[in-house]
Amino acid sequence: MSEIIGFSLENEMDLVLSHKRSMQVGEKIGLTVATRTTFATAVSEVARTVIDYTDNGTLSLAIEGNFPRFSIVARIAFSSDMVISANDEGFYYAKRLMPNFELVSVNGDYVIEMGLGLPRSLKLDKTKVSEFTAYFKNTSPLNAYEEIKNRNHELNKLNSVQEEELRQRKVLDEKKTEFISVASHELKTPVTVIKAYSQMLSTLKDETSDKVRAVLEKLNIQTSKLSTLIHQLMDVSRLENGNLQYDFEQIALRDFASETIIMLTSAHPHHQIDFQSEDVDLVMGDRLRLEQVFTNLIGNAVKYSAKGTKVLITLKKNDSGAAIMVQDNGIGMSKKELENIFSKFYRVEEVVSSHPGLGMGLYISSKIITDHGGKIWAESESGSGSRFYFTIPANPAAMES
Ligand code: ADP
Repeated sequence: MSEIIGFSLENEMDLVLSHKRSMQVGEKIGLTVATRTTFATAVSEVARTVIDYTDNGTLSLAIEGNFPRFSIVARIAFSSDMVISANDEGFYYAKRLMPNFELVSVNGDYVIEMGLGLPRSLKLDKTKVSEFTAYFKNTSPLNAYEEIKNRNHELNKLNSVQEEELRQRKVLDEKKTEFISVASHELKTPVTVIKAYSQMLSTLKDETSDKVRAVLEKLNIQTSKLSTLIHQLMDVSRLENGNLQYDFEQIALRDFASETIIMLTSAHPHHQIDFQSEDVDLVMGDRLRLEQVFTNLIGNAVKYSAKGTKVLITLKKNDSGAAIMVQDNGIGMSKKELENIFSKFYRVEEVVSSHPGLGMGLYISSKIITDHGGKIWAESESGSGSRFYFTIPANPAAMES
């Protein structure tokens, strides 16, 4: 079947359209005035009855068949809770006017098909049929109503395409998260075992040569890095599933930050890490998660700045609790890049091949801070270092918005 024109049947104005369009199609095919009027009258009769029952109908005018036998067909589809039969009086005239009239129904979905055989004298063939289709595809609207209707139709089509794209993206994202979750859990066990063995070997100091000891130390450092990455991956999938767990308690932030920074200073011996602090009130927080944020920010400050440069951490009182700043003198970032750094898996293009990382740290840190009721942000300029800030309220009930 080659549809020539189709539209929905929603109200009386569509009745006018049904009649006019049927007449036009008949004229274009070459039907006599009497035949096309008969066809158009039957179509608008049925359209009227369907519009009486429901506003979900659709009308499609088409040419069916193969050379040399073609028919002009009107197909009207609709659904209705009411039981409708071909004997309904609304179909009376259409049945009398059209030689072929058929009503099929399945579970409240109805299709009425009616048509006329076309005379051979019209000399129809496949090319002509395609020409009619192309003609009506490009034809201008009959009136303002049809114009609006067409536009709405296009918009709805666009909307459903976008909705489908969104749905598919969501499915893909869920699959990716599931993969990350499974993969990180599978990786965790062997890495933990390797780490345990290498630590066991390092304790056998007397029985190993200096060379073996040096290798063991490297092995230990690398497995620790791997283990951190795996934990980050697990956090990302927990975060996606809304399962990041917290163990909140009162924390004396000054002491806590100082201890954490001392630990990190020994892990980054090639930078000068300074800590300046005011005395701040107790804050509510999860120690392990906050340690993770300090580790990420200070780790980045070190990673993205030259050896021997200074990293400054300050802790200050603010209105609702405490504010922390981590400042480096490293490569910095442009404004555009700054906008994205807290997004999942985002990395500045220049660092991708020069600095290791997966773009998960800041995404996780920002989630941890917002879950503490605080805020996290950064200031930077390309080539002039970066400053990362975060706040932690003393009382998460007074969460900052
Ligand atoms: P990773 O460092 O593993 O790539 P993060 O999520 O911690 O992931 O950081 C995201 C990106 O933000 C980094 O890839 C880097 O481009 C940029 N970035 C983060 N911290 C800094 C910093 N202190 N200086 C310059 N760029 C940074």
